[in-house]
Amino acid sequence: MKYEPVIGLEIHAELLTQSKMFCSCAVVDSTTALPNRHVCPVCTGQPGALPAINARAVELSVRVGLALNCEIHSESIFARKNYFYPDLPKGYQISQYELPLATNGWLDIDTPEGLKRIRIRRVHIEEDTGKLSHVDGRSLVDYNRSGVPLLEIVTEPDLRSAEEAVAFAVKLRAILRYLGVNTGDMEKGVIRFESNVSVRPAGSDILNTRTEIKNLNSFRSLLAGTAYEIERQSAIYDTGGAVDQETLGFNEMTGKTYSQRGKENAHDYRYFPEPDLPPLVLDPGWIQTIQRSLPELPDAKRQRFIEMGLTAYDASVLIDEKAVADYFDRAVEYGLSKQIEPKSIANWLTTDLFARLDDKSAIQACPVSPQMLVDLIALVTDRTINTSTARAVLDEMFTTGKAPGEIVREKGLSQVSDQAQIREAIRKVLEANPGEVEKFLAGKESLAQWFFGQVMRSMGGKADPMVIRSTLDEILSSLKQ
Ligand code: ADP
Ligand code: MG
Ligand code: ZN
Repeated sequence: MKYEPVIGLEIHAELLTQSKMFCSCAVVDSTTALPNRHVCPVCTGQPGALPAINARAVELSVRVGLALNCEIHSESIFARKNYFYPDLPKGYQISQYELPLATNGWLDIDTPEGLKRIRIRRVHIEEDTGKLSHVDGRSLVDYNRSGVPLLEIVTEPDLRSAEEAVAFAVKLRAILRYLGVNTGDMEKGVIRFESNVSVRPAGSDILNTRTEIKNLNSFRSLLAGTAYEIERQSAIYDTGGAVDQETLGFNEMTGKTYSQRGKENAHDYRYFPEPDLPPLVLDPGWIQTIQRSLPELPDAKRQRFIEMGLTAYDASVLIDEKAVADYFDRAVEYGLSKQIEPKSIANWLTTDLFARLDDKSAIQACPVSPQMLVDLIALVTDRTINTSTARAVLDEMFTTGKAPGEIVREKGLSQVSDQAQIREAIRKVLEANPGEVEKFLAGKESLAQWFFGQVMRSMGGKADPMVIRSTLDEILSSLKQ
């Protein structure tokens, strides 16, 4: 039978605050800081310690809620989610349950069938747990991360393939980075995905039993784990079996999911309102101020780029990394004075510049500034150099950080447009290759391109290709008569 996947995502993202959610301990990089140096009675749950809400974390959360088109609730409630685990010294996590900060939003993703709207069920504030590591048969715990502000974002089960789940995750991560609320550094675990997966007969609209895959820490794992689960469940139904509702882990080495535990239900957590915290009450005026201060988000940026004459594809390529979009904007602004079209900047950026970067985010440390790139393009447009020389100059700009004009001057790379000089080079090439000329005259037209290459080579690649082309055409047709 053919099955349709049904997927809902839960995303945990740490918030980029200086201090923790309910105490004044610093938020530190948990992959480099010495363990257990940034802890206090509040974040380790000592008796009598009282939490206080971090206003900055609330502000960042509101930003996310607004960017995801949610309704922001002027009153929300913190709750205790009770469970035992060694990375949770309090014995409960402060989260939001019945009354979350934000609900009913949406995010549009790109799919091969076009834009698709994915509904966001809720966005709520909670705190991160400590970190366990298992070394040489022992388990070590680091509470530096305990109490770090964490945002949980939950979608409706609107995604229909592992690819759509990844498209959503990529887009959401970009938005969080645009908003400046999260670095998006997946290797550091500051953003983590959980995929809820079920399958149903194609065409049906039932919601079948789902499994939940925990701790998918890269787009690759999200894709592979979700795809594996779709296959596994389809095979179970094909053989007449039933899918167990359970919580799964994903093994990156084997590419398979494995059972961690039976699915717990909400009532297992004995949620109740956090008695040590008042309801979180937000002033609607403050929410509006935050709304007005939101930066231009990826969708709006893409639209603006398309209106500048870019293809939808180029626009998408430029927006997913904010640093790239900013680079492009700066280049376009500078290019205005030099009559360089945004389209041509986008071409150079997405092909030649990207090819020289390890990844898109490396553009921030790129030795070629937006102005330098535009200056290079201008040298091509005004025919000082040809495109292939420009590529060599770009290489040189990368290694030396020098301006393109300087490199062209120093190395004498200016292209030769002088027709007399080019005519002379053509004459020599034809003279040196009488056999090819004969074949050409006998009808092998494709040799024109070969002559072109020979002339360009004989002039050290620096000749103006348009002048070679027209002069060569002229000479070859006069030979034919
Ligand atoms: P919990 O909080 O217990 O994990 P929720 O009902 O809040 O459960 O749902 C969590 C996630 O699972 C949401 O993203 C939701 O869209 C998704 N989900 C719910 N039912 C299904 C289903 N039958 N198949 C796939 N995903 C589902
Ligand atoms: Mg869940
Ligand atoms: Zn603390």
